[in-house]
Amino acid sequence: MGFNAQIAQVFEQMAAMLELTGADRFRVNAHSKAARTIKDTASDLEPLADDEKELTKLDGIGKGTAAKIAEFARTGKVEEHQELLGKVPAGLLDVLDVPGLGPKTVKLMWDELGIESVADLKKAIDAGTLAGLPRMGAKTIENIKQSLEFQESSGGRLHVGIARPIADSIVERLGEVEGVERVAFAGSLRRGKETIGDIDILVTTSDPDGAMDAFRSMSGVTKVLAAGETKSSVRLEIPDEIGGRFGGDAGAGVQVDLRVVPSESWGAALMYFTGSKEHNVRLRERAIKRGMTLNEYGLFEDDGGDGPPQKRGVTPAASESEEDIYRALGVGWIPPTVREDRGEIDAADAGGLPELVTLADIKAELHSHTTASDGAMEILESAREAKSRGFHTLAVTDHSKSSAVAGGLSVDRLREHIAAIRAADAELKGISILAGSEVDILGDGTLDYDDEVLAELDVVVASPHAALTQDSKKATKRLLRAIEHPLVHIIGHPTGRLIERRRGLEPAMDEIIAAAVEHDVALEINAHWMRLDLRDSHVRAAVEAGCKIAIDCDVHGPGDYDNLVFGVETGQRGWLTKDLCVNAWPKAKLHKWLKKGRG
Ligand SMILES: [Zn+2]
Ligand SMILES: [Zn+2]
Repeated sequence: MGFNAQIAQVFEQMAAMLELTGADRFRVNAHSKAARTIKDTASDLEPLADDEKELTKLDGIGKGTAAKIAEFARTGKVEEHQELLGKVPAGLLDVLDVPGLGPKTVKLMWDELGIESVADLKKAIDAGTLAGLPRMGAKTIENIKQSLEFQESSGGRLHVGIARPIADSIVERLGEVEGVERVAFAGSLRRGKETIGDIDILVTTSDPDGAMDAFRSMSGVTKVLAAGETKSSVRLEIPDEIGGRFGGDAGAGVQVDLRVVPSESWGAALMYFTGSKEHNVRLRERAIKRGMTLNEYGLFEDDGGDGPPQKRGVTPAASESEEDIYRALGVGWIPPTVREDRGEIDAADAGGLPELVTLADIKAELHSHTTASDGAMEILESAREAKSRGFHTLAVTDHSKSSAVAGGLSVDRLREHIAAIRAADAELKGISILAGSEVDILGDGTLDYDDEVLAELDVVVASPHAALTQDSKKATKRLLRAIEHPLVHIIGHPTGRLIERRRGLEPAMDEIIAAAVEHDVALEINAHWMRLDLRDSHVRAAVEAGCKIAIDCDVHGPGDYDNLVFGVETGQRGWLTKDLCVNAWPKAKLHKWLKKGRG
């Protein structure tokens, strides 16, 4: 783990433990905010650790936090963290991770029943002692039990690439149910996060019972967890064609919640259930400053009355669409992908929220494999697929010789392949097929082909594939060397991480970004949902530095072109605009850029 990841974890644990020991909300929030800021920071904080001035420039890092960062850099520990660890049993933090259990309940279980671990919790459920706690009905206990089972079998979160097609298909099915007027998924899935906990669906309908029935009896439902008047929850198995296609990462399935919301509150509900929690807190604060109240039913003028305004028959100032509500709060509509309380509300307020790159903007795929290495399509087959999606350019970039398991090409085979690509380009009209390579960045930062060979290629994507556990300093040096190479266009999946499977390289991302800007190299967002590499927070840092970004599907088979949406949403989460995204450029501009360093 790099320095930032370590210190962020310390702050996260402190926030949780402070809450469990009954500290005030302000202190708890300050620690979780610090953890979030540190995680989002692209630069390595270790060299800055004794520079309080620099540290406190970061949003969410006050003097106290800065002192703790300095202490951690100096001693490898934070005294207050150690003290808290002495007070809070380690196993209690795992209990806090059980879905549906908040700190208040966990604290109560700890105080009253001495529950200090997940094992204790299970014993208390079996022994029936949990039922003795206030507000602990049979239904709540059953839910905790199921959360525990689910957590054990699934490992928790689901990749966005698995959740999205499931959500799309539910939305489609519910859209066909009689009476349903509007249906959409909300939650972190709508915000384009890389992993999600569960799927939230909202509908408006003239026949709530009909929608609920249809939902609970969908094919694939393995269990109905709740069946209320306005909310149902089910456990859904991951369809074979999704789980199977993507390597069977399906676990025990996914929880899906359906809520029927009043038609006139659609916008307010969609906003509320899309989140993020932090974004919504900011919006509610903004509403209060303007003498209003915001909840999932609408934005209301504060009339000083008691109780929720919708229950007192107060007409909302805005509620039917998200646009109306944002407008009434004095900001333009904010796309879901940036609703993370990372400055989006202030930016929108000042009219400075950038126009983000969209799926429709992407007109080129610059990273693709064919049967020459480990792809499933011939050159022309892939090019026809790209053309059918309206692309003007496809770069064929098969693996280089060191990636032997992926069928990497020897220099002789590469030259034959270049000839085949040129022939395909001449044959198929309406799209340019470029000859490229995904060339390995070796452990020391040298490239896997000689310069003479690289100069024969139209596109060079340089990627790390091996030695992905090397330390941060070596990783930084390695990537910098590749970026400085005059023939490199794009650094492919720069860290080599696999989400929830492999940490990958942890280079000093600010140095990588600065070098990429200096040498006019684009950093890739690899759109495969197992990678999403660069990650959103690094994209944001790159965009702020004016670094070019390539969004590529790393195509191996025809279905991989469908992953583009995940790359685009990751780009949006990093505030990426069209002008910095090379795949969104017109053909002439892109091809001119690709000529760099070549004659
Ligand atoms: Zn690769
Ligand atoms: Zn690749």
